[in-house]
Amino acid sequence: MCLTQLSAFFNQAWVQIWSVIFLIDFARYLIAAGVVYGVLWIALRRRLAHRRIQPGLPAAKQMRKEFGYSFLTVLVFATVGLGIYYGGQAGILKLIPEFHASDTGYLIGSTALMIVAHDAYFYWTHRLMHHPLLYRWTHLRHHLSRRPTPWTAYSFAPAEALVQASFAPLFVLFVPMHDLGLFLWVGHMIVRNAIGHSCIEIFPRGWVGNRWLDWNNTVTHHDLHHSRFRHNYGLYFTWWDRLMGTENPEYRTRFDEVSQAQPMSGNAAQAAD
Ligand SMILES: [Zn+2]
Ligand SMILES: [Zn+2]
Repeated sequence: MCLTQLSAFFNQAWVQIWSVIFLIDFARYLIAAGVVYGVLWIALRRRLAHRRIQPGLPAAKQMRKEFGYSFLTVLVFATVGLGIYYGGQAGILKLIPEFHASDTGYLIGSTALMIVAHDAYFYWTHRLMHHPLLYRWTHLRHHLSRRPTPWTAYSFAPAEALVQASFAPLFVLFVPMHDLGLFLWVGHMIVRNAIGHSCIEIFPRGWVGNRWLDWNNTVTHHDLHHSRFRHNYGLYFTWWDRLMGTENPEYRTRFDEVSQAQPMSGNAAQAAD
């Protein structure tokens, strides 16, 4: 391909829109996983050594692979994002082009509904991908991170990335969303995702079992899914696992152990590295 053809290719509207979506999605992953990694794994590494859910640290090779697969995931997300853009332009998907102050109530309600619906979608597609017929080519890649890291957040095989990406267009097929609502939903998703894979319990003691807080998943909740493979399929909330009887029976004990552990002395924290 000569330079003129290359420049004509990049001048096409869809290539430019795809590139912008890709850069935003990739930056979001880099910032969320990078901040969680920088704060919990580097800056507070020794201070939070007693809060580490699984002992030891994963090899750098694991994190490189997670980063590589997350890059592939962002390629899939950007392609589906381009579909959402054109679906909105064509009037098939319900994107609300403008935001006015009077829309604030709708913005909050629709974003909350999207988060709750996403948790249900994630729970059921996640359980489906654990089926032996689908597991190997969809979800296996994500489970190769037995001891997850913040970089595991988007570490999916392309087939699973497509399953994860399909929720947003399906939702806006039925529920009108502002661009800002989509932005808030996806921002919440990547932050919860990066923290949920951090392997360090940052939720305070007493969280699990507290009637006002317990409906939110902790880091231990998803970490147990990675280390034990079965149970705890939910993403943000404990509702579906409790309703379907799939919550790990050791969840509360394990959370209490890690959240009530005493901070380590300097030498012990150094030895835990
Ligand atoms: Zn799984
Ligand atoms: Zn995971």
